[in-house]
Amino acid sequence: QSDRARLLRGKPGATKDGVQVALLANVGKPDDADAALEHGAEGVGLFRTEFMFISSAESPSVEEQTKAYVALLRHFPHRKVVIRMLDAGADKPLDFLTPEDEPNPALGLRGLRTLREHRQVLDDQLEALAQAKRQTEADLWVMAPMVADEHEAEYFVSLGKAKGIEHVGAMAEIPSIALMADEVAKVADFVSIGTNDLTQYTLAADRTLASVGQYQTAWHPAVLRAIKMIADAGKAHDMPVGVCGEAAADPDLALVLVGLGVNSLSMAPVALDDVRASIAEHTFEEARQLASRALSGEFYPPRIPD
Ligand code: PEP
Ligand code: MG
Repeated sequence: QSDRARLLRGKPGATKDGVQVALLANVGKPDDADAALEHGAEGVGLFRTEFMFISSAESPSVEEQTKAYVALLRHFPHRKVVIRMLDAGADKPLDFLTPEDEPNPALGLRGLRTLREHRQVLDDQLEALAQAKRQTEADLWVMAPMVADEHEAEYFVSLGKAKGIEHVGAMAEIPSIALMADEVAKVADFVSIGTNDLTQYTLAADRTLASVGQYQTAWHPAVLRAIKMIADAGKAHDMPVGVCGEAAADPDLALVLVGLGVNSLSMAPVALDDVRASIAEHTFEEARQLASRALSGEFYPPRIPD
């Protein structure tokens, strides 16, 4: 890793000509919070809450959850922290919530679909988040995974607002939400694009199967066009759009995402330095031009060296 990458650590993410792109961390377990701060994260763009549920045979209580959220929020005073509602199902099955007999779990009960079937789990988690916010006065943003369209976005946003949560958003992981992005932008406070699942569903390739691994790349122009639809809707409706999937951690692809108009990038803490450097080395116009070349398919399929 270059010295330059480390030198930029204390600085907020921005292009060479000063267009700001918030660089946030993905946090999957409480320990990751320290790594995030060490690598200069400006906040948390994706807190995966599954870890709390995976080890227990039933849903953790409101009190237990509140404690865990407060601990996280206290690590990031006055910084944005995006917490994702439980994403049970498919690649993250939970014994007490996920049906065993689904022939295609990725197309089954997962994310918000699971939560709608288990309203108590949904309500308890929102209650714990609302309590944690009151105890810390943090800049808390809450989002639901696997939101299909504006109806589901509206359903979740109204539940979050009723609990007093200010910023309530939807993850964009299903192609349908990209196609409906303009409608979604009218009801959601923000959208965060999960490129791992968005790629899986756009290319119909199971993210857990090595045999279709070659389809699992957000460099595919179809995935980039879906992202552009969401970024354009965000711009038109003044709604922040972030990316929190693996794509954000690739310094070149991160630049393409910036060029597409994404406002924040969230990634594993170790990826932050190189992405920050890559963005700082280019102007927004350069990123825009790279994005336009990527959209037209210039970088896909990847060229195999001779
Ligand atoms: C994604 O799908 O890109 C994402 C960030 O969520 P997860 O990988 O946890 O499904
Ligand atoms: Mg996902």
